[in-house]
Amino acid sequence: MAFRIVVQECDASACGYRCLQVCRLGVLLAVPVSRHNRGLPRKPDRYVIAPRFNGYCNACGLCVEVCPDSAISLQC
Ligand code: SF4
Ligand code: SF4
Repeated sequence: MAFRIVVQECDASACGYRCLQVCRLGVLLAVPVSRHNRGLPRKPDRYVIAPRFNGYCNACGLCVEVCPDSAISLQC
């Protein structure tokens, strides 16, 4: 059965990227976001978490447990 991780927008740096640290299968990815990028390279304003490799998720639930913002949900 395939599982799907859904991640709401969060302040990833504030929690120390806990979900990335516990996911041993590398399902989740921190994606840089720059709100005021006018075509110039610049440091990202923040990072958001994207479930880039959902197909590898084994539904262990660790990322859901450690998220302080309840931003992650697991769907079958
Ligand atoms: S449920 Fe487990 S395998 Fe799936 S993304 Fe979360 S930590 Fe990774
Ligand atoms: S989804 Fe939750 S655990 Fe992951 S970075 Fe955001 S706040 Fe932290």
